Amino acid sequence: MSDKEIRVRFAPSPTGYLHIGGLRTALYNYLFAKNKKGKFILRIEDTDRNRYVEGAVENLISTLNWAGLQADEGPKYGGDYGPYLQSERLDIYNEHIKKLIDDGKSYYCFCTQERLTELREKQKKETIQTKYDKHCLKFSKEEIDNKLNNNIPFVIRLNVEPNKKILFNDIIRGEVTFNSDTIDDQILIKSDGFPTYHFANVVDDHLMKITHVIRGEEWISSTPKHVLLYDYFNWERPQFAHLPLLLNSDKSKLSKRQGDVAVEDYMQKGYLKNALINFIALLGWNAGDDKEYYTLDELTNAFSLEGVNKSGAVFNLEKLNWLNAEHLRNISNDEILIMLKDEISKSKYSNFNGTDEYLLLIIEAMKERVSFVKEYIEKCPYFFEPPSEYDEKVMKKRWKEDSPDLLKIFSQRIEQLVSPTKEGYERILKKLCEEKEIGLGRLIHPLRLALSGVGIGPGIFDLIFILGTEESLKRIDKALNQIK
Ligand code: GLU
Repeated sequence: MSDKEIRVRFAPSPTGYLHIGGLRTALYNYLFAKNKKGKFILRIEDTDRNRYVEGAVENLISTLNWAGLQADEGPKYGGDYGPYLQSERLDIYNEHIKKLIDDGKSYYCFCTQERLTELREKQKKETIQTKYDKHCLKFSKEEIDNKLNNNIPFVIRLNVEPNKKILFNDIIRGEVTFNSDTIDDQILIKSDGFPTYHFANVVDDHLMKITHVIRGEEWISSTPKHVLLYDYFNWERPQFAHLPLLLNSDKSKLSKRQGDVAVEDYMQKGYLKNALINFIALLGWNAGDDKEYYTLDELTNAFSLEGVNKSGAVFNLEKLNWLNAEHLRNISNDEILIMLKDEISKSKYSNFNGTDEYLLLIIEAMKERVSFVKEYIEKCPYFFEPPSEYDEKVMKKRWKEDSPDLLKIFSQRIEQLVSPTKEGYERILKKLCEEKEIGLGRLIHPLRLALSGVGIGPGIFDLIFILGTEESLKRIDKALNQIK
């Protein structure tokens, strides 16, 4: 092993959102780089001008940063190998394509769209592989110059030598071979002067000194073309690692039809970045044991490409939800407070003006009962407004003839509490039940219904303590008037 610095890149095309599969690729690159004390580079592959989306690059960077995967080099960050936007590197590609043309490794193609369509139709009819027939290779230097001078539109193609074995090693899949006959004379420079993915990708990986190309399996069929380019340029190839496909639970390729695929969707739904990262990391990788809960630091220490599986990884939403709850439990109340305030400001309680102390009490009381920060609101709206109605079923089952009386006495007694504590409320409630010779539930259930409108929630003494005596008295009073 040489001790060359490890340099990897995440090279998304800016489509407007970050796909979950893209986040996985970014994450594995990040983890691999950080584990090896190397560099994680962000390069934007924006040479397809038809697919240009305004604001997509900014969005990508902010989503990656949200997830904690900040690049060491990239647009906005800079670095020694920039620019990191391919659309700003056109001169570099032009310079490199010239060399390939001079060496006969690529060539101008002036074929019209009509000819290409005709060729394809003919090949289809003959049921042979549809690919370019090297028609334009026959032109002499003079003919080519002549056409160029006359501004005949052209593309530049890769000159693939027929019937050659193309072989490369993949860290995850082992040896991969292709016959060059199956490979088209790929366009390297398009008629608009922009490079195609294949050409720009290889030139940049070389110039940016990328040591390992870690990307999704869908790119494996492009790799022989890339390998040819490295060889034609006489450049050292990087190592390749193609990550397994992401699958829906029915084993079909992960698609929008069966659920959300944009990272932004998961952010909006309130998933914690730590949980999402933990979940994504396990889509195709494990440390060789059954550990499932990881922080980003733990992942960085444990990650290796040897631990990546060949077979597709099934996206299991239940596991993500479970991990979200686990991670939420490990976050400090102060951190949850910040997130909860943000959720409140986006909710119908945006005018809520309770204190931080009040919210912290809710957080503590509900901690074991929520899987998402927004459930601190959804599961207990009664902390943000008094109940306006009462659960029918609970009412039928729990509101007894003696409930009004019990609640009235309870109200009178708690009003006397000078500095109320949870224990204070508990003492009063227990004593009253003892006096009346009834089980605690006889009072707890109607009390909970009066205070919250529902039959479940945090411990009753937490509930009453958080609401406080004054608010609790009002709510009991209102319930006594409304529940008949
Ligand atoms: N631009 C390609 C993409 O959108 C990059 C593939 C690669 O990593 O080579 O995923």
